[in-house]
Amino acid sequence: MSDYNDIEKEFGVNLFNKRGITLVKGHNARVWDQDGKEYIDCTTGHGVANIGHAHPEVAKAVAEQAAQLITCSGSFSNDKRAALMQKLIDLSPASLRKVFLCNSGTEAVEAALKFARVSSAKSEFVCAMRGFHGRTMGALSATFNPKYKKPFEPLVPGFRFVPYNNPEKLRAAVTDNTAAILLEVVQGEGGVHPGTVEYFEAVKQICTENNILLIIDEVQTGFGRTGKLFACEHFDLQPDLLCLAKSIAGGIPMGAVLCSDKINVSPGQHGSTFGGNPLACAAALATIEILTSENLPQEAEKKGRYFREKFTAAMPGRVRELRQIGLMIGIELKEKVQPYIAALQERGVLAMPAGATVLRLLPPLTISYRELDEVLSALLDVLN
Ligand SMILES: *Cc1c(COP(=O)(O)O)cnc(C)c1O
Repeated sequence: MSDYNDIEKEFGVNLFNKRGITLVKGHNARVWDQDGKEYIDCTTGHGVANIGHAHPEVAKAVAEQAAQLITCSGSFSNDKRAALMQKLIDLSPASLRKVFLCNSGTEAVEAALKFARVSSAKSEFVCAMRGFHGRTMGALSATFNPKYKKPFEPLVPGFRFVPYNNPEKLRAAVTDNTAAILLEVVQGEGGVHPGTVEYFEAVKQICTENNILLIIDEVQTGFGRTGKLFACEHFDLQPDLLCLAKSIAGGIPMGAVLCSDKINVSPGQHGSTFGGNPLACAAALATIEILTSENLPQEAEKKGRYFREKFTAAMPGRVRELRQIGLMIGIELKEKVQPYIAALQERGVLAMPAGATVLRLLPPLTISYRELDEVLSALLDVLN
């Protein structure tokens, strides 16, 4: 059998620290490598497979749509796209009235930044330290981690960074030229840090008082991950721009920006060749139907609580803190996390880091309690 690791190493641009296994199949919470070894997947492509891998309803929707119509420019309407737009507006916070569809999280953030600038006629943004918003030049400018940014400077000017969960610093960073505040509801890549009630109350107030737009990045927290369909619901947030992607279409690439009435754009100011293509829209419709009909946000809430109870009852000494909201789980260690991730993989559990010391788990919301028990037992073994 070919060693696909060697082939990817030879031909792939050197951008990933490879995990050393080749995944060829998935079903619900499980994936298999080329040798047939089985893993419980708590990485889900960084939180993409919320409904599990290779969901048969999504596979069916994609196959049927592929045979019907794959591409359709935004200049023409389409049945699947229209249905998805209506669905997203029905299910999202009441402030949101319009949809722009694209193909990834970073594109959703790029679009939101452009929409905020053109709608406000202002050019600056206030963002959070530890925040992550993507890899393209605009979204990268809004991202905090200097490791991702430094080699690519100069970036887009006008981005200020303030500590997360600190209302005073946020208030102080606002100027007459601030177009928008851009925040995650739970910082994902930054180490799984949830925002607090007091913080988001202050955020709402600062935006209202200063007539500043609120951009919320739910690329990772959206679609049930935190125990609500949108993490905004935990704080009754009514954003002006809501960025979505990752799990929106069951694994098919898609991003979306939902907009309030304060967003005004006109034809030609933005666009996307693939955005809103019928194939991805059909996959998203099937995915959202599964999420809602199977009450998966509630499942995430219950399973997250179950995990917390079991894990804290046996908390290993090298754990500094457990941060958990729904099935978005960060276990901060007192030491580097990489060796533990490797040991878990050896034991058949795929986890990932969020920074140097945080072990992050983003299992499918459909994971069974038995599988969660297996994850817990592997974790406790490895960490003890
Ligand atoms: C993953 C992520 C992005 C970027 O999404 P891509 O699809 O990788 O471009 C943006 N924001 C947040 C919060 C993310 O977790």
